[in-house]
Amino acid sequence: MRILVIEDEPALREQLAGALKDAGYAVDSAADGEEGHFLGDTEPYDAVVLDLGLPGLDGITVLTRWRSDGRNVPVLILTARDRWREKVAGFDAGADDYLTKPFQMEELLARVRALIRRASGHASPVIECGPVAIDTRAARVSVNGEAVKLTAHEYKLISYLAHERDRVVSRTELTEHIYDQDFDLDSNTIEVFVGRLRRKLGNDIIETVRGLGYRLSAGNGPAPGKGGDTPG
Ligand code: CA
Repeated sequence: MRILVIEDEPALREQLAGALKDAGYAVDSAADGEEGHFLGDTEPYDAVVLDLGLPGLDGITVLTRWRSDGRNVPVLILTARDRWREKVAGFDAGADDYLTKPFQMEELLARVRALIRRASGHASPVIECGPVAIDTRAARVSVNGEAVKLTAHEYKLISYLAHERDRVVSRTELTEHIYDQDFDLDSNTIEVFVGRLRRKLGNDIIETVRGLGYRLSAGNGPAPGKGGDTPG
């Protein structure tokens, strides 16, 4: 999962980016509305943390432009204290959630998790794919109840596939959602990570769909629609 942080206060921006990275997200950050708008326009983020009070292009304008261009990425806005009108304007511009400054980082992380979960259609914070359970609260993965130790990148990959459960995800899409913009990309890296995940989680967990990508399925049975008679 890849997050964009748009915040002009350097200390808070770094704090946000650091906490989100520690929580297992790929993070890009922007210090002003122009850069933030551009990134959100060109990169496929899974959520955006957007400060409303920005120099140049303000947060409401950034959000309004994305929404009118059909960009539906979940957006959490940060507002100053006692600025309830700002919250109303933010929601009307297309925000999905808000936090008032100052806030607890734990709350921000919980809200971001919930936004991403809802956007991918999951109600529970634990996503189950056959014997594998991905606990998005603690960034932990288990197989048949046994915890499995994963590296940060392995977790990013399995977490993205789990959120997109039952859908074939191309290697390009995976690359775009698990690395930030500063990462030096090597097209073979994804294959290497998938190989390692198979060794750690079991060979049948991640299915390779030839020429299309990878899929993590909710259950162990055959894919729906394949063979078999329709009952009734
Ligand atoms: Ca600000």
